[in-house]
Amino acid sequence: MLQKVIIIMSDNEKIKRFDLNKRPHKPLFLLMPVIWMMCFPDYWIRRAKIKKEDMEGIKPPFLMLCNHNAFLDFKIASVAVFPYRTNNVVAVDGFIKREWLLRAVGCLVKRKFTNDISLVKNLLRVIQNKNIAVLYPEARYSLCGTNAVLPKSLGKLVKLLGVDVVTFICHGHHINSPFWNLGNRGVKTTAEMKLLIRAQDLDKLTADEINDKINDAFIYDDFAWQKENGVKIIDANRAEGLHKVLYQCPACETEYQMDSKGNEIFCKSCGKVWEMTEFGELKAKNEITEFSHIPDWYEWEREQVRAEIERGRYNFYDKVIVRSLPNSSGYIDLGIADFVHNMDGFLIKGEYNGKPYKMEKSPQSLYSCHIEYEYLGKYGDCVDINTLDDTYYCYPQGDSFSVTKIALATEEMYKYYTENSEIIQYALKTQIV
Ligand SMILES: [Zn+2]
Repeated sequence: MLQKVIIIMSDNEKIKRFDLNKRPHKPLFLLMPVIWMMCFPDYWIRRAKIKKEDMEGIKPPFLMLCNHNAFLDFKIASVAVFPYRTNNVVAVDGFIKREWLLRAVGCLVKRKFTNDISLVKNLLRVIQNKNIAVLYPEARYSLCGTNAVLPKSLGKLVKLLGVDVVTFICHGHHINSPFWNLGNRGVKTTAEMKLLIRAQDLDKLTADEINDKINDAFIYDDFAWQKENGVKIIDANRAEGLHKVLYQCPACETEYQMDSKGNEIFCKSCGKVWEMTEFGELKAKNEITEFSHIPDWYEWEREQVRAEIERGRYNFYDKVIVRSLPNSSGYIDLGIADFVHNMDGFLIKGEYNGKPYKMEKSPQSLYSCHIEYEYLGKYGDCVDINTLDDTYYCYPQGDSFSVTKIALATEEMYKYYTENSEIIQYALKTQIV
């Protein structure tokens, strides 16, 4: 598979990088009461439920795969495995100014959406330490409360670790604190902890079969859960921020003109308004409702992007502010750069300290990418592109863009190229061409 990553950061060679190889150790026992004191109150206050299935007699070491919607995921997962200790895989930005602390509680550092052999080695060490390796394979908070694409490498990793595989799927965490409007709405959440595959059965399964099992276990939909369980959100501002995910109007198909206020989302181009009910459904005001279920609208946007890709027309350009994160000391401002995302993948070109730098990533090298909305409440929306050495947080500066669309395009382009490459390989193999 053609993959291309070119990085020229002439002046940054001297900068210290995160040590991805550093051996993880068991979380310090002295810190465990602190961790539990951080986690249990949230569990008690919201009267969260944890249902366990086939978990009798399951003891560390094992691999726990969790879905990812909010920081609450970590807290409920820690409660679920009490009194055992865990090693969590955490993204680089979680380590800023507190690397020693995260290392002390056993966290493993990871740059998102990279093929990182040191992570595999460290996960093996966690298992050798007879601990619980906790992984959030979606590698990002869900954008609208539904499962995100999982890496194909997961099946191989599971076989390599050779331990019981447990899934931990939380429901209501997105409704409580949606990625597009962080907060705490006091939702009573539930979680399902289940033994998915016994260690002794791993040899009978192929990596693909393991992936299928994990993918099936990871199907979830927080908005459907909300309706089924009659969970009411009375917050008058419950729709604010939803336009970050729903960036294209289904009525007039205009992009980047959606906005939201109070309990409404609306299109500034055609004027159509939808109300978000207390049960998380959308209702158009005095008109036909295209999508009452929010994830359906999101998937429709995905189809629109896919159609653009199939016509070879997907193309986005903007000036961006780039901040890089080589280590836990904090961001380095790399100034303004050119940002292109098109049928050739990502291209970021800029200048730092008078010297040019460039990063290229082909569509086949990224099955997804990470985005942020209003990052840290002050920086705006961004796309972050990772190499094993650095992470580039790119903030588009124009008025007409959606980082959601960039993420959808990354996923659809990867599928488009890999599917097509499979068809070509099959054709060659069977001598059709
Ligand atoms: Zn419209």
